[in-house]
Amino acid sequence: MNQEQAKQQLEALREEINQYNEEYHVLDQPSVSDSFYDQKMNELIQLEEEFPELLTADSPSQRVGGKPLDKFVKVNHRVPMLSLGNAFDSQDLRDFDRRIRERVGDDFRYVCELKIDGLAVSLRYENGEFVQGATRGDGKTGEDITQNLKTVRNIPLRIAENNAIEVRGEVFMPQKSFLALNEAREKNGEEKFANPRNAAAGSVRQLDPKIAAKRNLDIFLYSVGEWEAATTSSHSERLSYLEKLGFKTNKEARTFDTMEEVIAYTEDWTLKRANLDYEIDGIVIKVDSIELQEELGFTAKSPRWAIAYKFPAEEAITKVKEIELSIGRTGAVTPTAILEPVQVAGTTVQRASLHNEDLIVEKDIRINDTVVIKKAGDIIPEVVRVITEERTGDEQVFRMPENCPECNSELAKIDGEVAWRCINPNCPAQLKEGLIHFVSRNAMNIDGLGEKVIEQLFDHELIHTIADLYKLDKDRLLTMERMGEKSASNLLQAIDTSKENSLERLLFGLGIRFVGNKAADTLAQAFKHMDDLKNASEEEIKSIDEIGEKMASSIASYFAKPQVEELIAELKELGLNMAYLGEVFEADTDSQFYDKTIVLTGRLDEMSRNDAKKQIEALGGKVTGSVSKNTDLLIAGADAGSKLEKAESLNIEVWNEQQMIEALKA
Ligand code: NAD
Repeated sequence: MNQEQAKQQLEALREEINQYNEEYHVLDQPSVSDSFYDQKMNELIQLEEEFPELLTADSPSQRVGGKPLDKFVKVNHRVPMLSLGNAFDSQDLRDFDRRIRERVGDDFRYVCELKIDGLAVSLRYENGEFVQGATRGDGKTGEDITQNLKTVRNIPLRIAENNAIEVRGEVFMPQKSFLALNEAREKNGEEKFANPRNAAAGSVRQLDPKIAAKRNLDIFLYSVGEWEAATTSSHSERLSYLEKLGFKTNKEARTFDTMEEVIAYTEDWTLKRANLDYEIDGIVIKVDSIELQEELGFTAKSPRWAIAYKFPAEEAITKVKEIELSIGRTGAVTPTAILEPVQVAGTTVQRASLHNEDLIVEKDIRINDTVVIKKAGDIIPEVVRVITEERTGDEQVFRMPENCPECNSELAKIDGEVAWRCINPNCPAQLKEGLIHFVSRNAMNIDGLGEKVIEQLFDHELIHTIADLYKLDKDRLLTMERMGEKSASNLLQAIDTSKENSLERLLFGLGIRFVGNKAADTLAQAFKHMDDLKNASEEEIKSIDEIGEKMASSIASYFAKPQVEELIAELKELGLNMAYLGEVFEADTDSQFYDKTIVLTGRLDEMSRNDAKKQIEALGGKVTGSVSKNTDLLIAGADAGSKLEKAESLNIEVWNEQQMIEALKA
């Protein structure tokens, strides 16, 4: 980008951000989410860093809040009310820590406080009497809202401190009051507030204090502005002193010596914040010593001794660059949105499944559209909606092709399904997906044969069908890049061992439509041998408990295909076991771990985590790395941290190490 282009982009960004500031700070009616605003502000800051000569004093990156409203008397802040620098991840926090240590050494500690999502106010007391309350405004000049603040019950009108003191804090609206207020507004046909922050801001800036009085506002006090005779030397002492004077302070504030402890605190609250009855949007981290705060000083907009860690956005805004199609093992065509990479809830997201054509039509998602995305259940990215206001005319409506993008045969919709399918059984994409399924853990469980290796084998044309896997030899394997002698031998060994698998694994691995893990097990137990199932009529299959009509029909038509007949014969020929071996799987299904999704956390004393994992997996459990609503059981060793808390908040069963050992022995 040249300077002229940068200048134009900067102007556009500043204008856009100034508009958001006006909507948010002055009108209390934001039109975009805070994370979108933060994204734009970051863009601005980065561009200004790249072109420092284009930085202007009136840029929104250099200014605090918005202009005070004319309808109120103005108040000049004797000590400016500043904003805070932002940190969006632990790296930003470590950088902040490094900057502080470079300036003042290592002998200090931090205070961490919840960042209450309300609006900053200053309360001035003279001779112990509350004389003036003001908003932050643009940091230098705020609005006199004394009468409204007097209606907030937790603001004392008298305190036992005769020296003039200005106390600062955050006025907020508790969740319950916010919901009740919006409900009432809806009933009266009034516009609802976007969030509790805006409701609080709108309430304290009412000209009629009777309205503010009805709004159930609350306050937490967290700092001191001007103070005639300061008697404390640290921020934490100030908080205690404020409490002693009768101010409401937040009880969750903590002091820490290291940034790693601070980071743990931020992670902790990322999970716990949902349980609070007021909104917080981050954690404020401050250097505790007032002397060091003074030494560190301020930038134009914020103190150098404090930073606001912002919680990861659960939603983000990005662009759809492309809509890609993939063919699954059953031939279903799945469209996926390829996105401009964006951070959502702590990870970078660049793809989101669009599931099927109907969903694209319903949400009207076009290539080049600006979209809101979120992580469903905090894991799987999904497109929530299109921001149609951002359309420029360059968007392209997506059209499902008539032919398979992999093998060019015609796509079809079967039995009123929403998915389009490629019905060519020899479609290479389907074969590849089918093989990935065949070797997977719950099917033939062939170690060392992951998605990547299967793709390589395909690309080298070493395999096309399941049977080809069992015909591989070392010389051919060694023609592939990154395949050494040892891995080739191990792979062949693993393939060979899989021949001994019990029938249900093979049955599941074949990928017959509707036949999942459990059904394969039931069928294997009932028929005991592949031939008996193959020769059974649809009626006979249907008569088995737990096997429905749809599945029975799918199984019967699968085995009726001549190419399936050939495949089974070939697999037999190659030495694959076709019989149900019983015991192993039966024992597994009895285990308390069977078919459960389990997370291990904390320190185990009697065995390594890896051993525990292996034993659980051998009993049919699935061990995953993070807790989600799909987790069935958390095994918490000593000093378990955030995973334990998350599991508890999701009401997931938690065991200690001993309980796990008992169950492994059972
Ligand atoms: P900020 O909200 O990031 O941080 C400073 C503020 O934090 C303080 O003024 C104070 O009000 C508050 N705070 C809460 N708890 C605190 C504590 N314990 N100690 C100290 N301060 C505490 O900065 P800002 O300048 O007030 O506002 C910028 C932010 O406002 C943006 O990052 C964005 O999230 C939001 N915003 C949104 C829009 C929008 O259109 N959606 C527009 C403008 C601003």
